[in-house]
Amino acid sequence: MICTLCPRRCGVDRSVRTGFCGLGKDMLIARIAPHLWEEPPVSGSRGTGAVFFSGCTLRCAYCQNGEISHRNQGRPFTPRGLADSLKRLEDLGMQSISLITATPFVPAILDALSLYRPSLPLVWNSSGYESLETLRMLNGIIDVYLPDLKHYSSRMGALCAGAPDYFAVASRAIPEMCRQTGSPVYDENGIMLRGTLVRHLILPSLTGESMKLLTWVKDTLPPGTPVSLMRQYLPCNDVHIPGLRRPVSEAEYRRVRDHMLALDLPGFLQESASVSADFIPLFNQPESFI
Ligand code: SF4
Repeated sequence: MICTLCPRRCGVDRSVRTGFCGLGKDMLIARIAPHLWEEPPVSGSRGTGAVFFSGCTLRCAYCQNGEISHRNQGRPFTPRGLADSLKRLEDLGMQSISLITATPFVPAILDALSLYRPSLPLVWNSSGYESLETLRMLNGIIDVYLPDLKHYSSRMGALCAGAPDYFAVASRAIPEMCRQTGSPVYDENGIMLRGTLVRHLILPSLTGESMKLLTWVKDTLPPGTPVSLMRQYLPCNDVHIPGLRRPVSEAEYRRVRDHMLALDLPGFLQESASVSADFIPLFNQPESFI
C-alpha cells in the first residue's frame, strides 16, 4: 500500500518501509478499554469504549502519550480482532465508541467496521491534521468528529510538530467534518449522536494563539459548533521547547476562557482538577485490553 493517508503524503509502501509515522503494514493498538474522561457528550456516565491506536501523524513534541505516539508501542490487530473488541465494548454498555488517532489505519478500520458496526455513536478522535481525501473515506461512517485544533501560526506548527502547514490543513479538515456530520444532535442523556466537537488545549506562553483559534472557530464554523477548552497541559515527553516546560497558569487559563465566553461559543470548560498525570491511561499493558 502506497501511503498518502495523512497530509505528510509520504508515498511509501508500508509493507516494505515506513514513513513519517514509523508505522508498517500491521494495525497497532495500545489500549482498548472503557474511558470516562472524555467530554460529557462522548463519555456520558458509563464511558466511551476507547481504542487508542499506536503511532501518530503529528507527533507533537509535548505529547502526553509519547510512548504510543512517538514510540509506537502497541499490539498488532487484524480487522477481525478489532471488530471483536468493538463488540465487547458495546456489550459492556459503553455510550459511544472512540477511535483515537486512527488515521494511519483507515483501510483496516473500514474492514473491521464492515465485519461489525456497533450500534453506538462512532467517534473519530483526531489531531485535526487530516487530508480531505481520507476524511471522505469516512463520510457516512463516522457519527461524531472530535478534532483538536492546536496551532495557529506556521512557526508553532513547525516548532511543535514539524508541520508548518498544521493550521492550513486543519482549517480545511474541520469544516469538512462539520459538513459531514451536520449540526450537533444529542440523545435524552446528552450523548452526542452526530456532530463535531472541537477541542483546544491551551499551551503555556501561547494564549495569543489560543485566542486566534477561538476567533477562527467563531468566524468560520457553523453556529452552535461546541468547543472544549482544555487546560490539562503538563510538560511531557521531555519537551525542550522554551515556554512549554511548565503547566498553564491560572491567569493564562482565565484569559483564554474569558475570550471564549466573550465570543459566546458553546461548549465545555475543563476543571483545574484535571491537571494531573493520573488521567493519562496505561498503554500496552495486560490490563490495557478488555
Ligand atoms: S500515515 Fe504515516 S506513512 Fe502514511 S502519509 Fe501519514 S505519516 Fe506518511
